[in-house]
Amino acid sequence: MIYLDHNATSKLRPEALAAMLPFFSEKFGNPSAAHSGGRAAKEGLERARRAVAKLFNVHFSRVIFTSGGTEADNLAIQGVAAANDYQGHIVTTAIEHPAVSEPIKQMVKQGMRATFVEPDAHGVVNAEAIVTALQPDTKLVSIMAANNETGALQPIEEIGAQLAERNIPLHVDAVQMAGKAPLDLERLPIAYVSVSAHKFGGPQGVGALIVEKNAPLRAQLLGGGQERRRRSGTENLPGIVGFGVAAQMASDNDYAAYTRLEAMRDAMEQRIRHAQVGAAIFSADAPRMGNTSALAFPQVNGETLVIKLDLAGFAISSGSACSSGKTEPSHVLRAMGVASELAQGFVRVSLGWDTQPDQVERFTEALIDQVKQLQSMADPALGVAV
Ligand code: PLP
Repeated sequence: MIYLDHNATSKLRPEALAAMLPFFSEKFGNPSAAHSGGRAAKEGLERARRAVAKLFNVHFSRVIFTSGGTEADNLAIQGVAAANDYQGHIVTTAIEHPAVSEPIKQMVKQGMRATFVEPDAHGVVNAEAIVTALQPDTKLVSIMAANNETGALQPIEEIGAQLAERNIPLHVDAVQMAGKAPLDLERLPIAYVSVSAHKFGGPQGVGALIVEKNAPLRAQLLGGGQERRRRSGTENLPGIVGFGVAAQMASDNDYAAYTRLEAMRDAMEQRIRHAQVGAAIFSADAPRMGNTSALAFPQVNGETLVIKLDLAGFAISSGSACSSGKTEPSHVLRAMGVASELAQGFVRVSLGWDTQPDQVERFTEALIDQVKQLQSMADPALGVAV
C-alpha cells in the first residue's frame, strides 16, 4: 500500500515508538507520584514538554498537553469563552476544521455571537476581512495556520500584528503546520496555538495547546490539577513521550523530512496537468503547504476514485478524512465558490515524512489511469461517473 493520506494521520516514527515503549512497561509510574517511579515518569513528561516548547521557541511552562488537536481547539475556544462568562463576540473563518467551528457554534448557543469570514477563491482568508469583522466586544479570533483540505496558508502573521495592536487574543489551529514548518512564537506572538502529534510522526491521541503567559483561559477538565491546573487528568505519558520525540526530530533536522516534499508534489501536479484530464488543482496559486494537493476531475466522483485507487494499492482521501463517512461536498470548497458538480470530484493527496519520490510517481500514473477510465465510462447525461 502506498500511503498518501498524511493530513489524516502519519505513521508513527520508529524513534518515537522506541522511546514510548519503556513508558508502557518499566517506566509506568504516574508523573504526579512522589516515589522514584513517579519521578522517572515526570522526567519523561518534562523532557517531552521542553521538546514541544522548542518547536515553537517558547518557555516550557506554556505547553498544556491534551488528548489531541480537537481537545486543544476546544480548550482554547471554550476556555476563552468561559473566562469571558460566555459574553461577547468571536471571529473565525468558514474553512475551519469542525474541531474549531463546532465549539464556536456551541458558544453561540450559550449566548455569544460569531462571525464566519469567507475565504477568497484560492482558499485564503484576507487579513483585512478579519479586521473588518471585529466588533468592540470581540473576545477571540480563531484562524487555522494551514487548511487541512487544500493546504492553503492563512495570513496569521498579518492578522496577529493587527490584533496585537487592538489587544484581542488570537487562537491558531496549527495542526496541519506544526512539526512540518517553523512556527516561531517568539517572533510571532500568538495567544493560543493548537498542535497534534499524529500529523507529523507522533502517536494519535496526544497534542497540546500552547498558551501565552497571562492569556485568559478557564480550565475545562477539572480534577487533580495537572498541567498547572489548566487540564486535569493523568497525562498520557507514553503518547506525550512519543510526541516529544517527533517534535525534537522536526526541530533538530530543521523540518528536512517535509521541505523535500514540495518538489514531489509539484512534479505530480505538473504530470497531471499534462495528462489533459481536466484537472482542477485547488489553492495552487495560493501560498500552501508543500505536502498537500487538492484535486478534482470533471465527470469523476471523488469517493469512487478513492475506492478504485484503494483497490489498486494507494491510500488517499476524498474530502477531509477526519470527518470521513460524510458524503456532502467539502465545506472548504463550497466556501471557495467551487461548483458543487466539480466539488463532488474532490480528492486530497497528502505526503508525509516517509514519502518517497518513486511512490508519488507510481501513484500519479495510477491516478491518471483511473481518472481516464472513469471519464470514459461517464454518462454525459448524468455528468458524473457512477
Ligand atoms: N484541526 C485540523 C486543522 C485538523 O486537520 C485536525 C485533524 O485532522 C484536527 C484539528 C483534529 O486533530 P486531532 O485528530 O488530533 O483531534
